[in-house]
Amino acid sequence: METIIKSIYENYKNSVGIGKVADYIPPLAKVSHEKYAISVCTVEGERFNVGDWQEKFSIQSISKVFTLSLLAPLVGPELWECVGKEPSGSPFNSLVQLEYEKGIPRNPFINAGALVVTDKLLEKIPNLDDVLLDYVRGLSGSQDIHFCRDVAASEYATGERNKALAHLMKSFGNFKGKVSTVFRAYCNQCSIEMSTSQLAQAFIFLANKGVNPLNGEQVVSCRDAKRINSLMLTCGFYDESGDFAYRVGLPGKSGVGGGIVAVIPGKLSIAVWSPELNRYGNSCRGISTLADFTTELGISVF
Ligand code: GLN
Repeated sequence: METIIKSIYENYKNSVGIGKVADYIPPLAKVSHEKYAISVCTVEGERFNVGDWQEKFSIQSISKVFTLSLLAPLVGPELWECVGKEPSGSPFNSLVQLEYEKGIPRNPFINAGALVVTDKLLEKIPNLDDVLLDYVRGLSGSQDIHFCRDVAASEYATGERNKALAHLMKSFGNFKGKVSTVFRAYCNQCSIEMSTSQLAQAFIFLANKGVNPLNGEQVVSCRDAKRINSLMLTCGFYDESGDFAYRVGLPGKSGVGGGIVAVIPGKLSIAVWSPELNRYGNSCRGISTLADFTTELGISVF
């Protein structure tokens, strides 16, 4: 394992200048495009790290997996009347499909879907910010995980498209809370900063039938772990989900901070960080790294 991730790292170390660092949330543009880290965490508790693995970055849409996992045990099948389970085939912040489909987002991993999840969470957990941070800290076994106030405030100030998504859903009756309150919580979630090693550890419960191996806690049921992994496989990369599944063969989730986390059920989780994004908003080098990882390891879910 050590040899595989080191050789992939060496191979891609100088592969920069192929994509573009996100700048629509202005503080994200300040991050160096050269950053590169890989962390693996196995269900047995082994860890392997290479590159800038101790440095924290903005997890952005990777947080959508944490919010769905937090909500899953609190709701029944009625959740799926408010958000779908199908790939969107559209950009993560698209409004078009939402109008056609009467305010029901295609899945929980596009922005509209995650806004519905946050709306539902706030109905159940009024102090969601604190609870979510504690949740992520528990999953990763690290207290040193925080929101980035600068990133959250900047997204809140500039996120007109996300506000439009929320208002559109509200006009269809698929949104209970106040748009500003829900959107503020959403921006905080997206602004969480973590290192690849913290992220790999925080996702290991999805490789371990829903159980956090650090403390034996059943975070989500075995069935929900299966479902969340299935959603990541089909919807984790927006309109590039099919290509990711083809190249990598694993459930995973990306964020515009350049992070990607993927899971091999029963075995391991892997987090990669490289901020240059392709036109779908997914990390270019992150995807190549994961494609080589499953090829060289000879293990994916297929
Ligand atoms: N906070 C970002 C947004 O809503 C998250 C998008 C992403 O990471 N793909 O636009």
